[in-house]
Amino acid sequence: MSKIIYVMGYGRSGSTFYESLLQAREDLHGFGEIKYLAERGVLNNELCGCGQPATICPFWANVITELGEWDYAEISRVTDKLESSKSFFNNLRLARCGKLDEEIDLYQRFNYRLFEILGRQGGFVDSSKMPARAFFLAYGRAQPYSKIIWFVRDPRGVAWSCMKDIDRPEAQHAKDAKMPRWGYVPSLIKWLINTYVSHYVALQFADRVVVKRYENLMSEFDLGNATMSSKRVEVLHSISGNPGRFTGGLHVFRLDDAWQKHLSVWQKKLGFLLCTPALRRVSQFERTKY
Ligand SMILES: [Zn+2]
Repeated sequence: MSKIIYVMGYGRSGSTFYESLLQAREDLHGFGEIKYLAERGVLNNELCGCGQPATICPFWANVITELGEWDYAEISRVTDKLESSKSFFNNLRLARCGKLDEEIDLYQRFNYRLFEILGRQGGFVDSSKMPARAFFLAYGRAQPYSKIIWFVRDPRGVAWSCMKDIDRPEAQHAKDAKMPRWGYVPSLIKWLINTYVSHYVALQFADRVVVKRYENLMSEFDLGNATMSSKRVEVLHSISGNPGRFTGGLHVFRLDDAWQKHLSVWQKKLGFLLCTPALRRVSQFERTKY
């Protein structure tokens, strides 16, 4: 199978930028958050990075034809269930009792078929991010991802982004037109759950996990308004991700640290106290440079 790099972590962390960087530096394809192909692509027909609805975009239309007949509503349901961070440890318990066999089988059959089709283009990046994905795709078989990049941003920056009103230009229905918004503390708690599950998954596949920090990555590039000179200038056929993928804005790297200004002193302290133990677990894996 072709080389597949997985970007694991929490949303609003800058992973779409990282994906565009991997594309340019490593000569890999970026197909976005592939986990959403069933729900946002086939069922909701949201816009691909090329600006066309997923079922009309020539790239994804071909992939969907090649995939053949699937019950996409069921795939979407099973994906949500198995990739949930909140339910991860419960799912793990059910899986060990054999109670998820059928769902895991469908989930793996669909995704491995998809990987096979996408892999014909060469190596690629899957920035679906959910840690449980890297676990359940490898459940009872070998890990399909040759490298798992655990992408981490300061949780206070993540929480600040979760509190903002952000449009989703790819949406086809009014109900999906905005990214979900959360309060500061609920955002931190969701980040914490994701980070503990990511840590568990990282321990299982420690030999292929590398941590990348958003702040370090952006600082490398943020020399005023540094623009990446990309080897890949073609249109990105990506499912889901940062709205910047529609405007070519992913080639401009700038550290977004607005949270430092906007959050109050107590919010910052609370975030620090709540999240430091989890960040210590992240740093256990910060050893190799990718
Ligand atoms: Zn497209």
